[in-house]
Amino acid sequence: MDLLLFDIDGTLLRTRGAGREALDEAFLSVLGWSDAMAGVSLAGATDGGIVRSVAARFGVSWDGVSAPPFDLAGVQSAYLDALGRRLEQPDRVALCPGVRELLDALAGRAHLALLTGNWRAGAALKLGAVGLWGRWIDGAYGDDHADRNCLVPVARARADAAGIRYRRVIVIGDTPADVACARAGGALAVVVETGFATAGELERARPDLLLPDLARGRAWLEALVS
Ligand SMILES: [Mg+2]
Repeated sequence: MDLLLFDIDGTLLRTRGAGREALDEAFLSVLGWSDAMAGVSLAGATDGGIVRSVAARFGVSWDGVSAPPFDLAGVQSAYLDALGRRLEQPDRVALCPGVRELLDALAGRAHLALLTGNWRAGAALKLGAVGLWGRWIDGAYGDDHADRNCLVPVARARADAAGIRYRRVIVIGDTPADVACARAGGALAVVVETGFATAGELERARPDLLLPDLARGRAWLEALVS
């Protein structure tokens, strides 16, 4: 069986700005940085990478790996609190088309894992809001590295450590950054048009498979992993 690594935002679900708003609130309440997320692109970003680039804009240099010269734990905790409050609002979380049906169809036919820039606790909140946390054998998260291109090896190592045997690794995402991280990790790249990139941008990234969404792409994915 293949190991499928699913991105979350734009691929499995949309949170209609909840992540951006929650980060904004956390930067302001913990560090006093106002409008911190203005102009920050979330497409294919990791939470650690976002914090690193916002910090740089406020004159604080951090490599994203060593201990940060500001209260990162405080920002994370305020973010999770703000995110959780927003995800409880009605209609905040929208599952992308065909997600539940695809996961049901692939169960037992592929190993399902995550590869996301979200911190693990944020991933749990977002997927928990739609009842999809606990469907995965684990994966790689924004806590593991600020650079998305370093995440496929992390997901592989976790699968190996769990004794999971797999044939190929396939990254499923919604941006050119997902294709780049698949290539960096020697994985196949599948992208959907339900997220943060246009069809043209996705085409230029040269994925192995470009799907309009996971509903119309289900047959393709089932064939790919068979
Ligand atoms: Mg995404």
